[in-house]
Amino acid sequence: MSIKINRRTFIQTLTAAAAVGVVGTPYLALGASKKVVVVGGGTGGATAAKYLRLADSSIEVTLIEPNKDYYTCYLSNEVLGGNREMDSIKFGYEGLKKHGVKVVHDYVTAIDAEKKTVTTKGGESFSYDRCIVAPGIQLRYDTIEGYDEKVAEKIPHAWKAGPQTIALRKQLTDMKDGGTMVIVPPPNPFRCPPGPYERASQIADYFKREKPKSKIIILDAKPKFSKQGLFIQGWEKLYGYGTDNSMIEWRPGPDATVNKIDAGKMTATNEFDEVKADVLNIIPAQHAGKIAFTAGLTNDSGWCPIALDTFESTIHKNIHVIGDASIAKGMPKSGYAANSEAKVCAAAVAALLNDTEMGSPSYVNTCYSVVGKDYGISVAAVYKLAEDKSKIMKVSGGLTPKDADADAHKREVGYAHSWLKNITNDIFG
Ligand SMILES: Cc1cc2nc3c(=O)[nH]c(=O)nc-3n(C[C@H](O)[C@H](O)[C@H](O)COP(=O)(O)OP(=O)(O)OC[C@H]3O[C@@H](n4cnc5c(N)ncnc54)[C@H](O)[C@@H]3O)c2cc1C
Repeated sequence: MSIKINRRTFIQTLTAAAAVGVVGTPYLALGASKKVVVVGGGTGGATAAKYLRLADSSIEVTLIEPNKDYYTCYLSNEVLGGNREMDSIKFGYEGLKKHGVKVVHDYVTAIDAEKKTVTTKGGESFSYDRCIVAPGIQLRYDTIEGYDEKVAEKIPHAWKAGPQTIALRKQLTDMKDGGTMVIVPPPNPFRCPPGPYERASQIADYFKREKPKSKIIILDAKPKFSKQGLFIQGWEKLYGYGTDNSMIEWRPGPDATVNKIDAGKMTATNEFDEVKADVLNIIPAQHAGKIAFTAGLTNDSGWCPIALDTFESTIHKNIHVIGDASIAKGMPKSGYAANSEAKVCAAAVAALLNDTEMGSPSYVNTCYSVVGKDYGISVAAVYKLAEDKSKIMKVSGGLTPKDADADAHKREVGYAHSWLKNITNDIFG
């Protein structure tokens, strides 16, 4: 018969043993065996690492992330619009270290689910009791003829913030007034559904200020997009959308779907058209980050199936997947969602390691988009797990009202900026 020791029993036993002066190595050994390795120190991974330590400071948490600085994708569109500096979206790992997270700057090359080990490019190996994988996305360059990782240096996707954001911004500042910028958004599902349209808005804001004869053409693979009504209302008010002088032209899918580009001629081609650009921004289709494939955590969709209460992989036990890489059925692939999933996952992992009861999870997401000067919009939702655990269900939420006045839109911009401060402090502070 096995005896179950949960955290409370363990502490009680330890206290009683200490009181009679018999604290022995078996208890210390038990404590030392609670090891979690977190793969990826972006929004999901960094939140999970911090919240695990907050849930139980006896858990040894190692976070493995190649980059010393993390640039948030959120609000990176404002950098493209010239309304924000790169430094304001840059975050380091000192805060996590203060919470006792061991931060290792390396790249994970393998996860062995049988041996429960994680191996890095630097040649190190880490054992775990549970592993949390949050590698974000991988861009599927192969889905558009003429596009690959090398071409992306000339034609940036800027869908992972950092050097790509700087490159695209430079192309926009170098572009002549009267030039055409072409944005090619990806098909579903992808990171940040409103992102391409916020990007078009921010760039239109820049053109309106500095290059008023310029134009943006969006060649979409989709017939509709996130917060479409609100974006279009904003574009009508700010950029003449729907008129002959509109700064933004949105061409819907499937007809507009781009299947080929020519980096030399700077053209994007679909079944009906070849569109010439001065600046071309291709955001290709996506799937889970590479390590999710290497570790065998993905299914045919290219994303990672998980249990929605613990985020434990349904393929490999003791490995949890959170953030964009996971199939968090019912939630969007957003930073706020990744942050929320990470907290649910951290609480579940702490409970599983301590053999305690898990609470019933709730999840949250709010997504702000800054459409132009003093003009913001948002969508917000609170979710709970469906009783049969088959999906994460929206229980409440809403959009910016269609009849919101100018003050309300201005306030949304303030909310967006304070959200950035709050969430990054929550993740890295
Ligand atoms: C332009 C744009 C605007 C956006 N705006 C918003 C917004 O307003 N609100 C919002 O909520 N979301 C927004 N998002 C979405 C948000 O950025 C992502 O959903 C979020 O970053 C997902 O978090 P993640 O942890 O899954 O991935 P990431 O934050 O990308 O983190 C993944 C991390 O894993 C690391 N990694 C990858 N592979 C390995 C490996 N093998 N070993 C070690 N480390 C590895 C990477 O270096 C990276 O740091 C936006 C995205 C874009 C592109």
